[in-house]
Amino acid sequence: MTYQRNPFLIILSAPSGGGKSTILREVLNKSDKIEYSVSYTTRKPRGTEETGVHYNFVTEEEFKQRISNCDFLEYAQFSDNYYGTSISYIRSRLMEGKHVIMDIEVQGAAQISLTEIPYVKIFILPPSLEVLRERLVNRQTDTAEEIDKRLMIARYEITQIPCYDYLVINDDLDKAVDDVMAIISAEENRVDRYGQPQQEFLQDKDL
Ligand code: 5GP
Repeated sequence: MTYQRNPFLIILSAPSGGGKSTILREVLNKSDKIEYSVSYTTRKPRGTEETGVHYNFVTEEEFKQRISNCDFLEYAQFSDNYYGTSISYIRSRLMEGKHVIMDIEVQGAAQISLTEIPYVKIFILPPSLEVLRERLVNRQTDTAEEIDKRLMIARYEITQIPCYDYLVINDDLDKAVDDVMAIISAEENRVDRYGQPQQEFLQDKDL
């Protein structure tokens, strides 16, 4: 007998360079019940980033048009660029019974708490600010000025940890991925994620 369980949003936030993209990739590899929400952004592609895969890269004009069309479930400005989540994508995946995992910053995560859509919010924290700086420098994708700006934003973002449901410290990638998978599994088993399990159990016609 299979019970109806309602899918939910899995919101991952972390300071830029906190390792959440790697964790997210590993989580997606481990589960076929989870889809990734590809965000819209006005940021320029970095390195090998492709539109439709890493982000939907759009102009500021198109982004603002999408805001007026109410296309976004949430959106925010981060380090001079806009980032937003397509509401139609989220709705259609949830309707298919899939969880949707999102990599978004703290202002967007706060907007989602105000909607009716079920979610779990996980904050990924690197072991220290020093490690964060090293990771940003080593990935060689941002200028020194951009790195300083992202570290300044990180200090603010970390103050928002109390608004999250779970905190995962990313000092060991495998452990961090296991922790996120364990959180998802526990959340799937929450009583309020089920439809009417008691009725479904008692109405089993085979007995
Ligand atoms: P990056 O430029 O490093 O790819 O992303 C910068 C920040 O924007 C990260 O904290 C990332 O989580 C966040 N971000 C990416 N997509 C979205 C989105 O759709 N909405 C919001 N609010 N933040 C996003």
